[in-house]
Amino acid sequence: ATASVKDSDEFQARLPPFAYTPPPYTGPSADVILEKRKEFLSPSMFCLYRKPLNIVDGKMQYLFDESGRRYLDAFAGIAVVNCGHCHPDVVEPVINQIKRLQHPTVLYLNHANAEFSEALASKLPGDLKVVFFTNSGTEANELALMMAKLYTGCQDIVSVRNGYHGNAAATMGATGQSMWKFNVVQNSVHHALNPDPYRGVFGSDGEKYAKELQDLIQYGTTGHIAGFICEAIQGVGGIVELAPGYLSAAYDTVKKAGGLFIADEVQSGFARTGNFWGFEAHNVVPDIVTMAKGIGNGFPLGAVVTTPEIAAVLTRRSYFNTFGGNSVSTTAGLAVLKVIEKEKLQENAAMVGSYLKEKLTQLKEKHEIIGDVRGRGLMLGVELVSDRKLKTPATAETLHIMDQMKELGVLIGKGGYFGNVFRITPPLCFTKDDADFLVEAMDYSMSKM
Ligand code: PLP
Repeated sequence: ATASVKDSDEFQARLPPFAYTPPPYTGPSADVILEKRKEFLSPSMFCLYRKPLNIVDGKMQYLFDESGRRYLDAFAGIAVVNCGHCHPDVVEPVINQIKRLQHPTVLYLNHANAEFSEALASKLPGDLKVVFFTNSGTEANELALMMAKLYTGCQDIVSVRNGYHGNAAATMGATGQSMWKFNVVQNSVHHALNPDPYRGVFGSDGEKYAKELQDLIQYGTTGHIAGFICEAIQGVGGIVELAPGYLSAAYDTVKKAGGLFIADEVQSGFARTGNFWGFEAHNVVPDIVTMAKGIGNGFPLGAVVTTPEIAAVLTRRSYFNTFGGNSVSTTAGLAVLKVIEKEKLQENAAMVGSYLKEKLTQLKEKHEIIGDVRGRGLMLGVELVSDRKLKTPATAETLHIMDQMKELGVLIGKGGYFGNVFRITPPLCFTKDDADFLVEAMDYSMSKM
């Protein structure tokens, strides 16, 4: 069953009030864009919905399609738009910067870049204060892994199964000049068991997973590793919180093996989890922190922050990134930090996040299809199963419910190995009323199954 048009319209009319009407859209329709997309874009660029949306405007936690229809955005461009869409305090300084100078190159002095580096360092513990800029999370992680290999002289990298860290590897190897070259040895990555409390073999026993990591390093490597890279909460993997105690035990093991601990904060960073960084909940101080997504609120910006001692490995060779740290993106980064502070977005993520998690947990009592509710702050996951005992992934139903929720005016993401986990990562200005509306739309859509 699907929601009738009448139901959808009535539902949408109950969206929390919002005083903004976008200007009329005069561009090509969704059908025309879809045709072009089919012909000219790679099929790997999939659309989230079976009937794809043409989103043409955004304001704070709302998006608008070509007809002016308003949607509550609980995905935030894949956990990117943390301050809200087109937040004026981010957009205005960026426009001013663009009008004045777009791309001086990072080879000249650039105040936004320097001020943002200083502000970033002030957000990190210990000696983490040297910043390298990139354009994306992938590039940030590439650089972090290279640094770990150069610093330790080891090749072996360890990560956990089900983690996601990016999509590049070969370009530094393909580069011909030795000064810029770095050979990525493909088989030097070892995957430890995923410390997943819901699906993992050891359930919530963080110590057992950490012991397996220890064994992996002892028997799968020379006993010395370059580094360990891990997300504090897996995002693409389906909002998986790590089993309690795992990360701090893993930290000790990695240190004993001489490796660097790399915190991938691309998705969990910048206030999303209710802490400023995801790793803060685990009492570890990483050697390297990587970030992207939310740090530019949609402008392409990534960064690697490490200690002066580790950063010194890049004085022995060069690292260069044409756009990384450009004045426009770093202006956005600086503005994002100010908005997070001024509007107390970290506190809001913690407060609205726990309210929403509670509501979703109550919904689990009502709907058999909900197998698990998890996450922290405004990084929440709802895993759907057709059999709670067997944990059979309800992948088709997930798609159906998402489509249905879209019709009712709520956009969420999905992920997980089986594509059966709702990813709820809204802008951090999300309110309790928004949370109620989301839960109501999910409830209604599940009832219509
Ligand atoms: N690391 C994590 C945790 C991510 O979630 C992602 C992207 O989803 C990446 C790295 C890669 O970032 P990007 O897509 O900006 O290259």
